[in-house]
Amino acid sequence: MPSVEISPLEAGCVLTVDLSALVANWRTLQTVCGEAECGAAVKADAYGLGLEPVAKALHDAGCRTFFVAHVFEGRTLRALAPDADIYVLDGLRPGAAAAYADHALRPVLGSVPEMEDFGQFCATSGRRWPDGSSLKAALRLDAGRRQLGLSAYDLDRADHLAPLFDVTLLLGEIARRDGEDPAEAQIDAFDAMRARFPGRRASLANSSAIFLDAIPLYDLVRPGYALYGGNPTPGRPNPMRPVVTLEAKIIQMRILEPGMRIGEDLAWKAKGPRRIALVAAGFADGLPIAMTDNKARSGGVALAQGRRCAFVGPIAMDHAALDVSDAGYLERGETVELIGKTITIDDFAAQAGMRGAEALVHLGRRCHRRYRQA
Ligand SMILES: *Cc1c(COP(=O)(O)O)cnc(C)c1O
Repeated sequence: MPSVEISPLEAGCVLTVDLSALVANWRTLQTVCGEAECGAAVKADAYGLGLEPVAKALHDAGCRTFFVAHVFEGRTLRALAPDADIYVLDGLRPGAAAAYADHALRPVLGSVPEMEDFGQFCATSGRRWPDGSSLKAALRLDAGRRQLGLSAYDLDRADHLAPLFDVTLLLGEIARRDGEDPAEAQIDAFDAMRARFPGRRASLANSSAIFLDAIPLYDLVRPGYALYGGNPTPGRPNPMRPVVTLEAKIIQMRILEPGMRIGEDLAWKAKGPRRIALVAAGFADGLPIAMTDNKARSGGVALAQGRRCAFVGPIAMDHAALDVSDAGYLERGETVELIGKTITIDDFAAQAGMRGAEALVHLGRRCHRRYRQA
């Protein structure tokens, strides 16, 4: 994040985050999940959309369990949500256990050394949870054999460590391999590991798993991408509301005569007279180079006055060229829409062969950000 505010006048791009759509998405997911609690993954600055406004809106709406990746994110969140359960997914950094105790954060422990580190801290530091009970942690169970988390063998080795702290959550993940459906075996493995910790809450589902009938939701689900408007059911209509709009301002207009070229490598050539808008969004703003990284040096679209227009020439760090010949009259300072209701975040990412969440976390570092209140 930049250290100064970027005003709407100065900004090249404007990123609008619709907090009421975000909250509506959380409520939809909570309804879909029935008895299971719907938490929220707000790691990586709430997928790039701003941890503070996003977490505040969700907390105001009643969300009480959050997942971050780093301790510092947990610390930031603690200040906004004093009563929330905050899990730190990336586990415990060596020697950093005190920070978890200071802010009542729960590390998600995924290896025997992490359990030893935390267990040792709990046994020797005298630190307690704010209510005087033992410090709390989750265990990440590797039911999917994806080499992330504790195996059944690890749990045998760590049997003496778990009583040193309060295991409040058993967290699993389903690994997916194309052409196979190993979910059932993984769920059985997760249940077998879970049986060692009777009465503990469990969580298996991220955004897409919530919508898979074969996957049990247990006590808690942890969606991220779907909250931010991404489609958790690829290939089917999106049950979520769009949250993100990204607009870029036109820096200047250019008229190209037939045969004229554009861009750093002069690879794109106008076949007829073309009208080009140079827009203030480049790869530093999250526009993926891959969109135009092809032989034709053209690809990806943005909406100019409601018309789909293609990018031409390579995407540069700070700008990109859009062929707006089919749109109406446009001038400097007007905006084009890169992401919104028509070109969704999923469409935007697909143009570059990216995953939606990957595209999302790269947006908006240099934008003016606008939050529509919940
Ligand atoms: C990021 C993350 C989630 C959220 O995943 P989405 O696909 O964005 O819903 C859930 N669980 C874990 C362990 C994660 O790291």
